Amino acid sequence: MISGRCPICSKPYSVAGLDELPSFPFCSERCRLVDLGRWIDGDYAIPEKGPAKDDLELLPDDADESD
Ligand SMILES: [Zn+2]
Repeated sequence: MISGRCPICSKPYSVAGLDELPSFPFCSERCRLVDLGRWIDGDYAIPEKGPAKDDLELLPDDADESD
């Protein structure tokens, strides 16, 4: 007997063996893919976006007014 909690949706599961839960340690294939997607998103999101340009453009305006 294997029991645990899905790290994605926190749903508890209890199965006789890994044969019954091929998506272990996730409760379902869907949650397994969600976890996979998070890793891929993080991998691509960090180098693509970078710091917000809006913040940098606000600085000269602010300095101009207080000068
Ligand atoms: Zn789940």
